[in-house]
Amino acid sequence: MIINTEQLLKGIIKLASDRQVKFMEVCGTHTVSIARSGINGILPENVRLVSGPGCPVCVTPQDYIDKAIYLSTLNDIIISTFGDLIRVPGTEKSLEMRRSEGSDIRVVYSPAQSLKICRDNPDKKIVFLAVGFETTIPTITGTMEMAIREHIKNFYILCAHKVVPPALEALATSADLDIDGFILPGHVSAIIGIKPYEFLASRLKKACVISGFEPEQILESIFRLLYQISKQDYRVENKYRGTVDYEGNKKALMSIEKFFEPSDSIWRGIGNIPASGLRLKKEFVFFDIESVIKIPPQDSIEPKGCRCGDVLKGLIEPTECPLFGRSCTYENPVGACMVSSEGSCAAYYKYSVKRKGNGKTG
Ligand code: SF4
Repeated sequence: MIINTEQLLKGIIKLASDRQVKFMEVCGTHTVSIARSGINGILPENVRLVSGPGCPVCVTPQDYIDKAIYLSTLNDIIISTFGDLIRVPGTEKSLEMRRSEGSDIRVVYSPAQSLKICRDNPDKKIVFLAVGFETTIPTITGTMEMAIREHIKNFYILCAHKVVPPALEALATSADLDIDGFILPGHVSAIIGIKPYEFLASRLKKACVISGFEPEQILESIFRLLYQISKQDYRVENKYRGTVDYEGNKKALMSIEKFFEPSDSIWRGIGNIPASGLRLKKEFVFFDIESVIKIPPQDSIEPKGCRCGDVLKGLIEPTECPLFGRSCTYENPVGACMVSSEGSCAAYYKYSVKRKGNGKTG
């Protein structure tokens, strides 16, 4: 740790004084940075950080995984997906298991790569597993634009897109969580800007800082959160300047708005949050695989004993799950939070974060 970090820590200790505070880092990349750098271990006991629902793979409900697995059993379907998703256990098996049993499931690094699969396989339907927040969605709208331009008719999505602000409202107003402030996600904010978070400060009186990802930037954000609380001056501060501005990325927002409209959405462990999802608008519904294939209702069951829901709500730390490090490891994950590289359980497991066990526990 360098001098500047020491000064920040001194400031944090002074501002925290003897008040108990709980801050949620919303973004999975922040969780990983906090776990890797050991920030939790150097903060005073009365300042507690909890992870939030910022890992897209983690918040995708079991039902979605089971639907994707069902599609993968059909002969005329090729699934294309980001890598993390294939290891998430469904109710009976994962996509990775389905692939070893013969399903055609391809890992891509960008949705646009799916279009080459479409061209190479004109007699198949290529279904991209469209999971993710505002950061990822413009890459999918860009792919749909390309598919239209190139008259590609066999590209589809299985849509589970989610937007962050309504989830934060649900968490901020949840009586059992008692969150004092949010370390807001840098990447999502680069797309949506500052404006959509303002209700958190003005109406709900939560301290908010949009943070960069370096440990020192995160410490500075914690310092600013405590400063807002000490002054009872709640606002959305932008500490990720140069990347995030007030209005966000207008071009990306317009492309999202062109293809999608708000819908209710189920978050793993949290349940239904009004207007927290996106569905294709009527004029683009031909991209929706569910408009051409009727997927039967899935009898989805969460893995027994897995407490991903409580982890995603910041109610417990991953190490408080009885399965953590025992039957659930990064090599053999039981729940989604242990699979994704941005998942809290995976980050705690990888960097051996010890439970702090202090402050408010919700
Ligand atoms: Fe679920 Fe495993 Fe995390 Fe427990 S440790 S909450 S089983 S992912």
